[in-house]
Amino acid sequence: MEDGFGRKIDYLRVSLTDRCNLRCIYCMPPEGVELSPHNEILRLEETLRICAAAAGLGISKIKVTGGEPLVRLGVGAFIRSLKHCAGIKTVTLTTNGIALGNFLDELPGAGLDAVNVSLDTLDKAKFRRITRFDKFEQVICSIKAAQKTRLAVKINCVPIRGINENEIIELANFAGQNKITIRFIELMPLGLGAGLSPVPQAEIFEKLRREFGDLTPSAGQEGNGPAIYYNAAGFAGKIGFISALSHNFCGACNRVRLTVSGFLKPCLSSDIGCDLKAVMRGGGDDKAIADAIRAAIMLKPVRHDFCENSSRHKQENMFRIGG
Ligand code: SAM
Ligand code: SF4
Repeated sequence: MEDGFGRKIDYLRVSLTDRCNLRCIYCMPPEGVELSPHNEILRLEETLRICAAAAGLGISKIKVTGGEPLVRLGVGAFIRSLKHCAGIKTVTLTTNGIALGNFLDELPGAGLDAVNVSLDTLDKAKFRRITRFDKFEQVICSIKAAQKTRLAVKINCVPIRGINENEIIELANFAGQNKITIRFIELMPLGLGAGLSPVPQAEIFEKLRREFGDLTPSAGQEGNGPAIYYNAAGFAGKIGFISALSHNFCGACNRVRLTVSGFLKPCLSSDIGCDLKAVMRGGGDDKAIADAIRAAIMLKPVRHDFCENSSRHKQENMFRIGG
């Protein structure tokens, strides 16, 4: 369907859990994380029901995310059921990669189309500094093992000033040598991310250009969303940028988000939306759920307000919203 500004909304990001087996410095505090009580978290069959209703309104692409989606029991069967939902064409997953290796027998067979693995550094000690866990090797092994399956694999990297900004070329080379697309995601001032400094796209672009030669926009559509992809003569892969701050993409935004507690958020930066869990648990039938989704999509704001309402954004948590 179209939102109030004529944008086609066909992509839903679904957070399956607010639990995680890492504690990335821009996302979760080292301890004292207030986790949602179990009865506040959607059961997987409830999530599925919402996805089916959304599919009836034109959602055809679903990203399974979290927290860490692979710590949610039943994630494989959930993905299999999603792929059987009428109207759902693509199901992809964003993961930190820690447990991915254990799922590579199950997920491709369940119909998963692609996996994005977060990797912010190639330095083992820095990995521990960023994620607060010593699990670097597990992620690298998972990436390499995932590549041997039919899944399309991408790497997501969030460059942070003073932390991993000096590793852009190494990370790109790692991706290139393994023929993986890498995307650089501009750090957003949400939750703990608000206390760290992003590295603007232009700066990363220039570093890559100096190393690999001119970056030319990649022909054709790749992926589900706002990433802009480039090729370079000296680089055997694609390099993508997702830069919500320096290159606002709200005009072409096609996505809405379902939080772990069943709140449909039409915009990452805004509080408005609809508590679909309440609709459903209050006895709402499939039509009532679809009507609530439609109404929430019509509330989608014209653009994000990350630069205006910083104190509110600091209270948000990416691990609940799903990134
Ligand atoms: N745990 C999984 C992972 O790390 O890939 C999925 C959830 S995580 C919230 C989804 C994505 O959001 C990750 O790529 C992560 O790096 C990114 N992310 C988290 N906080 C962010 C922030 N403040 N700004 C930009 N990206 C952020
Ligand atoms: Fe966990 Fe992903 Fe957040 Fe890191 S970014 S703490 S892996 S949810």
